[in-house]
Amino acid sequence: MIIVLRPKISKKDEALVLKEIRRLGYKPHIMRGVARTVIGAIGDERTHHTLETLTAFPQVESVMPVQKRFKLVSREAHPHNSTVKVQDQLIGGQKFQVMAGPCSVESEKQLLATAHAVAEAGATVLRGGAFKPRTSPYEFQGLGEKGLKLLAKARKETGLAVITELLSENHADMVAEYADILQIGARNAQNFQLLIAAAKTGKPVMLKRGLSMKVEEWLLAGEYVLANENPNLMFCERGIRTFETYTRNTLDLSTIPIIKKESHCPIVIDPSQGAGRADLVVAMCKGAVAMGADALLIEVHPNPAEALSDGAQQLTLEGFRKLMVELKPFIAAAGRE
Ligand code: PEP
Ligand code: MN
Repeated sequence: MIIVLRPKISKKDEALVLKEIRRLGYKPHIMRGVARTVIGAIGDERTHHTLETLTAFPQVESVMPVQKRFKLVSREAHPHNSTVKVQDQLIGGQKFQVMAGPCSVESEKQLLATAHAVAEAGATVLRGGAFKPRTSPYEFQGLGEKGLKLLAKARKETGLAVITELLSENHADMVAEYADILQIGARNAQNFQLLIAAAKTGKPVMLKRGLSMKVEEWLLAGEYVLANENPNLMFCERGIRTFETYTRNTLDLSTIPIIKKESHCPIVIDPSQGAGRADLVVAMCKGAVAMGADALLIEVHPNPAEALSDGAQQLTLEGFRKLMVELKPFIAAAGRE
């Protein structure tokens, strides 16, 4: 940490600050400038008590951290890309992975038709919400455990792995029993008790970015998963809230190189929530592949016009098949399979 003292501080007042720095386990290094004295406090900021409390001292002008606040998710901690194993597939490895399926599990017919179609087109993970985080309490809330059972049935029939959202700590064991990956949704991205509960199931966790979450906050939320002894974490960018109204959210593709630089964990892009418009999904997918994403999460529905949630952004089965064909040269150009 860097501690800047106010001008014209007496030696006695300076000594009090130095004493506090030592008491908190840091080694002070004094740099006397013409107008100000600056103290470099040497010590691991992630394991020592923070020195930010020093701002309460009248002789201190400012305190600045020099280390990043996240540790286990950082690339420093794990220089190579980490991979998440799901059934016999690796996410974050050489193979570019596609997770696809309806926003919500609505019926057996709807889910199985989608699952077979996306498997045939090359997806390896089936998505589908059984517990839905809806903005209004009057909108379709999902089929709950019945939806989870349908996902398990679809996995058995198609061999696809299953990703579904965990909405409540109370459901952690139930959802983990049926799912291969637990999705933590944008609205719960900083629900730390939920993140801990998800981590403790031992299942891989895909953490969406919150609607107004800074990248540092997202990385720190991910840190909760790794700090709770679950190394199988992936981040998912799904768009942030901005002033723009052409799209539902602003899909922040710059997070791909940022997450790749800061973290070893895989990054997944969700262009469906990201754009909120089916007609933009293909272009956003191509951009995501080209920019180095590890996987996509795409909403697909046999009849989007009749979907019980997110109808405007879901691809048809045929639209998804075409997308997978169109993505091939982009995947190859990005050096992936
Ligand atoms: C979803 O994937 O359908 C969903 C609700 O996602 P998000 O949490 O990103 O809004
Ligand atoms: Mn959705």
